[in-house]
Parts: sequence; C-alpha cells; structure tokens
Amino acid sequence: MDCIFCKIVKGEIPSRKVFENDRVLAFHDIQPAAPVHALVIPKKHIASMNEAEEEDQEVLGELLLTAKQVARELGIADSGYRLINNVGADGGQVVYHIHVHVLGGDKLGGLNV
Ligand code: 5GP
Repeated sequence: MDCIFCKIVKGEIPSRKVFENDRVLAFHDIQPAAPVHALVIPKKHIASMNEAEEEDQEVLGELLLTAKQVARELGIADSGYRLINNVGADGGQVVYHIHVHVLGGDKLGGLNV
C-alpha cells in the first residue's frame, strides 16, 4: 500500500520518534504548524475517522491517551495544547492514515469551537 505513514511505521521513511509501542507511533511533524507539532498514529492502517470501525475502539482511545503523554513529554501539557483530527477533503486531511495532531508551545489561533 502506498501510504506515507505506513512507510514511517515500517521504517522505510525516517521520522523523529517521540513514542512507540506495538500499536501506536508518535513522531514530529515534518512541517510544524506550531512550536510543538507531533502526530500520533495507529500502526494499523485506518484511512480516516470515516473508515474507523467498532473493532478500532481500543486503538482510537489509545491514540488520545498517547497524545496526552506526548504533550507531557514535549513540555506543553501544563500550558495547554490542541488535539486535531482532520477528516476528508473539507476537513483538510492530506494524509489518509488516521492521525491526531498534537499542537502547542504558543497561544494557538484559528477556529474557536
Ligand atoms: P493532515 O493534513 O492529513 O491532517 O496532516 C498530515 C500531516 O502530515 C501534515 O501536517 C504534514 O506536515 C505531515 N507529514 C506529511 N508527510 C510527512 C512525512 O513524511 N513525515 C512527517 N514527519 N510528517 C509528514
């Protein structure tokens, strides 16, 4: 499968890893949109939230808990941060392997939802 993030999981494309276990991987975004910008992905290929199934419930929960740990590890937990999951074209998704963005290190602008 021609998926950039699957290639990162397999080590075929290098990444700056923050955390890894058997199920999830966290690494720094190549084009940071904030002073701290990491991505948390499942090792299993799930294209987007639209393709997530009942059986993915556990790993989806683990993505969020890993994002919390990544924020702590990267020193932004106490000042605050934003977790983003883009879905589909209008959601701004570019890479179709589900991921949670962990953004922080500054006061973040953008949509207030
Ligand atoms: P999306 O727009 O799909 O939610 O976010 C995809 C993110 O993946 C973008 O922030 C982009 O900078 C990042 N990205 C794309 N290709 C690579 C890569 O090869 N390595 C890393 N570390 N990040 C990537």
